[in-house]
Amino acid sequence: MADEILKIKDLVIQYVSDGEVTEAVNGIDLELKEGQTLGLVGETGAGKTTTALSVLNLVPKPQGRVVSGEVFLDGENVLEKSEREMEAIRGNKVSMIFQDPMSSLNPVMTVGEQIAEVVRIHDNVDEKTAMARAREMLETVGIPGERAGEYPHQFSGGMKQRVLIAIALACSPKLLLADEPTTALDVTIQAQVLELMRGLKKKFNMAMVMITHDFGIVAEVCDEVSVMYAGRIVEHGNLQDIFDNKRHPYTEGLFNSLPDINNRKSSLKPIKGLMPDPTNLPSGCPFHPRCDYVCEKCSKEMPPKTWINDTHYVRCWLYENTTESRLTEGE
Ligand code: SF4
Repeated sequence: MADEILKIKDLVIQYVSDGEVTEAVNGIDLELKEGQTLGLVGETGAGKTTTALSVLNLVPKPQGRVVSGEVFLDGENVLEKSEREMEAIRGNKVSMIFQDPMSSLNPVMTVGEQIAEVVRIHDNVDEKTAMARAREMLETVGIPGERAGEYPHQFSGGMKQRVLIAIALACSPKLLLADEPTTALDVTIQAQVLELMRGLKKKFNMAMVMITHDFGIVAEVCDEVSVMYAGRIVEHGNLQDIFDNKRHPYTEGLFNSLPDINNRKSSLKPIKGLMPDPTNLPSGCPFHPRCDYVCEKCSKEMPPKTWINDTHYVRCWLYENTTESRLTEGE
């Protein structure tokens, strides 16, 4: 059986600015095994990126603070590590690819130097060996090694994202956090980059957390899906659970707001309203002001985690008494 690479337990993260508290992550649990890919799905502001930053122990300080919870990476709680210890962990055990390749590369260093720098820091090798590895990594992501001496501005957007993938994978991390890695790219380039990531994940037997708002990407690369809303996971399951047997009204709303390519006359059905203000979250179920199925209890009490089957849970009062479900212990 594959080893567990990531386990997040009851994580709560807040940002405090001018005395105002933003509740970014409100008690999430996540588990991921070696080689698995988890899609973290939700609208902007759901807490997806903050969750990923916590795995790197990079929640921006001093505004950001982990109020409670644990984040185990390969069996070690990263939240208890010093900055020096984290420097050794980042890159070697976990790497992150950010959304915007344009602003993530250093414009005055060649791409080869940028990859080699990561290799040198983490593998403690000489410059020549690090540069040889940089060229090798460029080849791995489909860029000729001889382009290592070129600068970021000499590459297209898709190529820059490939360079960032090469940097992230240069030290063979066990876990890759990919934050909307294809959002800034054209659709055709997106498909190429996703295909590349899927291939590399298999080649390196890496686990991956794919942060996205796009269920098309989830269908392409993920094994498991966590749907986030207002800093909570409101539904979790494998691909079949979420695509064929979705339960949460928010998940349903996300799917309904996708264009139907089989029916070009159908209109989009966006979810009514907006994400709640994280400095002033609604009482009870935070989705209740937008939900078509809202009942009295919804605005008063937070729904517990209800299991639909061994792989699938939902947080919604509609499933409180389903005979097929069992409530999570302790909730
Ligand atoms: Fe809608 Fe109530 Fe379920 Fe929340 S708990 S998603 S408001 S039905």
